[in-house]
Amino acid sequence: MINLCFHGIGTPPDGVPAEEASYWIGVDTFRRVLDLVAERPDVRISFDDGNASDVTVALPDLLERGRVAEFFVIAGRVGDSGSLSADDVRRLRLAGMGVGSHGMHHRVWRRLSPAEQHEELVVARRRLEEILGEPVRTAACPLGRYDRVTLAALRRLRYTRVYTSDRALARPGTWRQARFSLRAHDTADDVAGWLRHGDRSTTRLADSARTFVKGLR
Ligand SMILES: [Zn+2]
Repeated sequence: MINLCFHGIGTPPDGVPAEEASYWIGVDTFRRVLDLVAERPDVRISFDDGNASDVTVALPDLLERGRVAEFFVIAGRVGDSGSLSADDVRRLRLAGMGVGSHGMHHRVWRRLSPAEQHEELVVARRRLEEILGEPVRTAACPLGRYDRVTLAALRRLRYTRVYTSDRALARPGTWRQARFSLRAHDTADDVAGWLRHGDRSTTRLADSARTFVKGLR
C-alpha cells in the first residue's frame, strides 16, 4: 500500500515559511489526485500541519468522495491565523476523520533535549486530547525527520502508529508508516507514476514470496 501526504491546498497565505510553501499544491491537482485514487483502498491519505485548508478544501472534497483521511495537527498552532481552530479539529473528527499529533512547534524530531521531547511528544498530544476529549494515538514526524531516540520515546509513550515521509511503500500493519509527500511541482501524473511503481513492487514482492514457498517444497 501507499500513503500519500498532503499539506496546504490552494495558495499559501502570507507568512507561511518557504520550506512549508513548497509543499502546498493547487486545488485542481488535489482533486485530480483524489479522483485518481478513488478506487484504491490501498492508498491512504493524510494531511500534515493543520492548515485551515484542511477544513475549507480537503474535508468537503473527501466527504463528497466518501473518503477518510488522517490529519496531523501542530498543537502549538491551533487557533493561529491560517491554521485550524479547536472547533475545526473537532469538526474533522466528528466527520469521521482521524486526528494525530504533529508535535508542538514543527521542529525536527532529532536530537531533542529531554524538555523538548516532553513538549513535542507529551504536551502536544495532551493539548490535542483536551480539544478532542479522547486519546490521540498516532503521530507524524515534522519535516519527515526523526532519530532512533525519538522513535523509542514514541513507542514508550504508546503511540500506536508513527508516520514518516520516507517515500517508500508501506505495509498495512506496521508501526512505522512511510509516506509520499506531494510537493508544489508534483502533478496527478506524478502520483499515478508512484502508484504504478507501487503496483509493480507489490507484484515483485508477491512473486518473491511464491518463489520462497516453492523453495520449501
Ligand atoms: Zn509538517
